[in-house]
Amino acid sequence: MELITNQDIIAGYLTDASNTHGHADALLRPRDTQEVVAIVRMAQKYNIPITVTAQRTSTTGGPVPNGGWLLSTERLSTIHSDTHVDGGVILGEYQRYLERKGLLFPPDPTSRNECSIGACVACNASGARSFRYGATRLWIERLEVVTPNGEVQIVDRNTRIPEHWPDIYWREPNVKTSAGYSPTNNLLDLMIGQEGTLGIITKVWTKLITLPNEVLGMIVYFFHLEDCVSCVEELRIGAVRPNQEGNIDALSPRAIEFFDARSISLMRARVEVPEKATCGLFLEVEHDGDLDLDPWFDIFERHHALCDDIIAAENDEERERLYRVRHAIPAGVNEQIIANGMPKVGTDFSVPDSGLRAMMEVYDDVSMPSVLFGHIGDNHLHLNLLPRNSSELEDAKALYVQLAHKAVSLGGSVSAEHGIGKIKKGLLAHMVGQDVVHSFQALKSVVDPNWILGRGVLFEKK
Ligand SMILES: Cc1cc2nc3c(=O)[nH]c(=O)nc-3n(C[C@H](O)[C@H](O)[C@H](O)COP(=O)(O)OP(=O)(O)OC[C@H]3O[C@@H](n4cnc5c(N)ncnc54)[C@H](O)[C@@H]3O)c2cc1C
Repeated sequence: MELITNQDIIAGYLTDASNTHGHADALLRPRDTQEVVAIVRMAQKYNIPITVTAQRTSTTGGPVPNGGWLLSTERLSTIHSDTHVDGGVILGEYQRYLERKGLLFPPDPTSRNECSIGACVACNASGARSFRYGATRLWIERLEVVTPNGEVQIVDRNTRIPEHWPDIYWREPNVKTSAGYSPTNNLLDLMIGQEGTLGIITKVWTKLITLPNEVLGMIVYFFHLEDCVSCVEELRIGAVRPNQEGNIDALSPRAIEFFDARSISLMRARVEVPEKATCGLFLEVEHDGDLDLDPWFDIFERHHALCDDIIAAENDEERERLYRVRHAIPAGVNEQIIANGMPKVGTDFSVPDSGLRAMMEVYDDVSMPSVLFGHIGDNHLHLNLLPRNSSELEDAKALYVQLAHKAVSLGGSVSAEHGIGKIKKGLLAHMVGQDVVHSFQALKSVVDPNWILGRGVLFEKK
C-alpha cells in the first residue's frame, strides 16, 4: 500500500474546483479493495478521519480534507468488463471503451473526461442527457462498498437497509436533485448520493443501452425569450423521460439546453451569431440515420424561432460550427473570470416545470454581470455570477443564498447535480429542515459511530 507523508506531494490533493483549501497528515493510494479495508480498519483503530478523494472536480469542497487521512481512489482504475469497473475509473475513458463496442452508459457530466465513476455514483452526477436518461442513479445495478467499519459489502436494490438503522424518511422534491440521503429502503440507493459519508465505493456494476446510430445536434436562436420558453414547453410534451416511455408521436430530444442574451454577448466575440438573436436552445436528437427535420422546423416556426439561422449539424462542417458555438460560452466565461481576477459563483438549482418561468424572472433581475445557460429541459439552469471585485464577490455569495431559497420556495432543489459537499450544508438544512438533518446525523452515527468518513460533508458532526 502506498502511504505518503511528503507534504509537497500531498499539496496537490488539497483543493477542488470550488477552490476550498484543506490539509491532511497523510495520503493513501490503495490499489485494491483489500488495501482500502486495511486503511479503514487502521483509521478506526486510531480514530483518524478519512476523506475520500478521486479527481477533485467537485464544486462543493467534498473531497477537501480538514486533517486526517486522504484516501485517493486513483489507483482503483481497472475496467473489469463492459458492466463492471473499479470506482476510480475515469468516466470518459469507460464511455469511450463502451462506444467502441456499440454501448452507452448515459450519464454525461460535462467533466466526464476528468471525473471518476465512483464519484459520479457518490454524488449522483448527471448532465445534459439527464433530460432523457436521468442521473447516474438509474444506471447503477450494484456496488461494492467498504463500510466505515472496514467491511466489504456488495449491495443492490434487494439489499434492505437494516431495521435497526434510524428512519430517514423525508419527501425529496420531485425534480432533478442530488441533495441529501435518498429516502429509500435499499442500501444501493442509500449509497448513491451519500458523497463519501457512508462508504467508499470500490466497484461499480452498471446498466447499459445500445449506442444510438446517430445523434443530431441543433442550435436554434430566438428573438423573444417567451417564444424560446414556450418552445421548450412544447418539446417536453410526450418526450421520453427518465422512467417514462413517452409518446410515440412526440419528437423527443435527449437534451434541451438554453443560453441567454448575456451568453450570446459572450459568444459574439468568438463566433457569428444572428443579429436578432437574444437567446437560444441547443438540442440533441437520437435517430437511426434518416431524421425527418420537417416536424422539428414546424415546432420552431410555431414559436417564431429564427428559422433561417438554425444550425442542424448533419455534416462535419456543421458539426464543427456547432461545436464552436457551444464552446464559445464557457470560453467567454473563463476569459471574464481571468479578466476580473475573481472566481465565479455558479448556481446548481432545479425547480419543477411549474417554477421555471418564475425562476427565470428572478435570474433576469440580477443586476451583477452574469451568464445563464444549461439544462432548461430539466428546469436546471446554471446562473454564473461574475463579480468584478471582492465587494461584488460578497454580494454574489449573498445573492446565491437568496436564489437557493427561491428555488426551494418553488418546490426545487438546492443542488440538482453537483451535491452538497462542505460548502452547501446550510442550504441543505434550509431545504430539508432541521428534523431531517437530525435524522441524517442519527443514521450517520449508527453506520459510522466514530464519524471517520467524510467528516463535515452534508452536515456537521453531532
Ligand atoms: C468544469 C466542470 C464541469 C462539471 N460538470 C458537471 C456536470 O455536468 N454534472 C455533474 O453532475 N457534475 C459536474 N461537475 C462536478 C463534478 O465533476 C462531479 O461531482 C464529479 O462526480 C466529481 O468527480 P471526481 O472524480 O472529481 O470526484 P471528487 O471531486 O474527487 O469527489 C467528489 C465527492 O465524492 C466523494 N467520492 C469520490 N469518490 C468516491 C468513492 N469512490 N466512494 C465514495 N465517495 C467518493 C468525495 O469524498 C467527494 O465528496 C463539474 C465539475 C467541473 C469542474
